[in-house]
Amino acid sequence: MNKQSIYETIAGSLDEMVQIRRHLHMHPELSFEEENTAAYIADYLENLGIEVRRNVGGRGVVGLIRGGKPGKTIAFRADFDALPIQDAKDVPYKSTVPGVMHACGHDGHTASLLLFAKAMNEVKDELEGNIVLLHQHAEELNPGGAIGMIEDGCLDGVDMVFGAHLQSQMAYGKIYSRDGYLQAAESTIRIQVNGHGSHGAEPHTGRDPILAASHIMTALQSIVSRNAPPLEQLVVSIGSFHAGQAANVIPETAVLEGTMRVYDEGLRELASERIKEIAEYTAKAFGCTADVDVTKGYDTVINHTEGIEILEKAVEDAYGPETYQEIDPVMPAEDFSYYLQHRPGAYFFVGALAPDAEKAYPHHHERFDFYEPALPMAATTFAAIFFEAQEK
Ligand code: MN
Repeated sequence: MNKQSIYETIAGSLDEMVQIRRHLHMHPELSFEEENTAAYIADYLENLGIEVRRNVGGRGVVGLIRGGKPGKTIAFRADFDALPIQDAKDVPYKSTVPGVMHACGHDGHTASLLLFAKAMNEVKDELEGNIVLLHQHAEELNPGGAIGMIEDGCLDGVDMVFGAHLQSQMAYGKIYSRDGYLQAAESTIRIQVNGHGSHGAEPHTGRDPILAASHIMTALQSIVSRNAPPLEQLVVSIGSFHAGQAANVIPETAVLEGTMRVYDEGLRELASERIKEIAEYTAKAFGCTADVDVTKGYDTVINHTEGIEILEKAVEDAYGPETYQEIDPVMPAEDFSYYLQHRPGAYFFVGALAPDAEKAYPHHHERFDFYEPALPMAATTFAAIFFEAQEK
């Protein structure tokens, strides 16, 4: 097996990757609604002669490339949903769908995985081991597409799983990740404080939910400062506080909404309990009641040591030393976490900030874009991982 010639094939497919990426960019679809995108992916793979299973756990598409020789089965995942954002870029491939945009690079993930599949399928008879292509719907919206695809058997027969995310604010030319915790878990907080409305001039006849909610808001800050161990990461943020309509009326209810970000699952449980206790007992102290929902979003992304070892060696094999860079964990959540709860593997970032970029817009921004030469770098890293994983 000549690995270098495969890396060259992938590098030579930049034009087709860009063409696919731009097509998807012009025709984005929201999470759980990606009918045309899923069909486009499945048709592309079938036209290559790759076995395809459609509608996996919803709109997921799973491809299988059977190698000609025995070996491990390695899965690679690319998500394909877009976001409810109006595209504000001035480029020929701007979104044609009002209010919907590929503002996180999932169009690029899809293009990379498709051209990786094409290159590997051309030499499948020489491959040791099998490749599973996980094209996942709905990464951007809880409960996400990953759980459904796993329940529908997308990891059956898979030995290891890997995934990549383009990063518009990380320099092009490097692959970034870390062993263990990579991305935080997320929980959503909603607290409704129920009081008794009254005239603002006669507050003693009511039960003021705004006063109670204000004390709850302040007391919630004690969770990070007094319940979390000082060296553990925990964020509790209230981003919305709604109550009342008029200056001289005490309303019936007040509603606080926020988000929790945390790495440790035990601390996540503790913080959830403390939020409930603080809200319920503080409300009671002011003669009110509180309805509290702390809803779990995605779990923490935890890379496996074995997966990171393979990634590091693969990147060195394809690009030489110093291309892999270890980074600190990041706070955005990602449902790749669930694959890593079922199989060993790793998730990594592909630098996609153009060397000459004057300004890099963050992910989920209305002007988000990325440096397209990063596309073959993602695909080449997948190929190198596949070969390295067979050696392990
Ligand atoms: Mn994303």
